[in-house]
Amino acid sequence: MIRIALQSKGRLNEESLELLAEVGIDIERGKRRLLARAELFPIEALYLRDDDIPHAVERGVADLGIVGLNEYEERRCGATVVHKLGFGRCRLSLAIPKGEEYEGIGYFNGKRIATSYPVILRKFLEEKNIKAEIEEIAGSVEIAPAVGMAEAIFDIVSSGGTLVSNGLKEVETAMHSEAVLIATPRLEPEKQALLNQLLFRIEAVERTRGKKYILMNIPTERLAEATGILPGIKSPTILPLAERGWSSLHAVVDERVLWEKIEQLKAIGAEDILVLTPEKMIL
Ligand code: ATP
Ligand code: MG
Repeated sequence: MIRIALQSKGRLNEESLELLAEVGIDIERGKRRLLARAELFPIEALYLRDDDIPHAVERGVADLGIVGLNEYEERRCGATVVHKLGFGRCRLSLAIPKGEEYEGIGYFNGKRIATSYPVILRKFLEEKNIKAEIEEIAGSVEIAPAVGMAEAIFDIVSSGGTLVSNGLKEVETAMHSEAVLIATPRLEPEKQALLNQLLFRIEAVERTRGKKYILMNIPTERLAEATGILPGIKSPTILPLAERGWSSLHAVVDERVLWEKIEQLKAIGAEDILVLTPEKMIL
């Protein structure tokens, strides 16, 4: 049995549970229950505030955890990042009132900066040789300049909409973040084996991101042209059809070029084109 710490509510909760569901692990949603077992895999979820996840994993209270890289870096903990998960993408940035003139990082010398991420901010300012005062606050950071608590803020930004609606502009980015899978430093062999199984499944799901599976019928004499248009993972699958002179061609295509490929294939006589979304891909 392995235990994974997940955010009990908030931005990473849903997507963490969705990812687990995609790899065949259905866990009861953490509404009331703080510890919940999965059905078909020996794993249980411990639901925590995201602030507490790095430390819980470091101490082995949980073997694994899913948390934002920003939170992991802020806690400076001994857990290790084993996999980047690609969701919960955001950045940690410095922002100032939008009417202020900004000519470079030197702007922050002697300023007060409000943040919930003092560790990351301190390191960033030291690297840039800036001497500023850090005002640590737990939330509502964006309001700090308007109420005279600070001249600038250092906070999470994704679209930037929150900054704009608080009359602020982003001027420097200190780090990019996404959800990461972290593990306790010394996993027992049995738990390491479960982690490996989990990673194998996660990678199978990740390989299908942005990919489509395409099937079509095509005159056999045009196959060479079609395979030129559609390089598969190794090579496309070709099956003969009952109707003479026709073949069925299957391939995996990058979603970004899907329509372009379909037009090219139609132009050389492809018919009955079917596009499907693959779920898992194991090499
Ligand atoms: P908790 O109650 O668990 O302490 P919280 O309020 O501290 O939660 P959330 O706002 O739920 O935290 O954010 C959790 C994590 O999600 C952040 O640490 C960050 O990695 C990521 N995140 C936050 N805001 C965004 C956003 N706007 N877009 C994408 N990811 C975000
Ligand atoms: Mg938190």
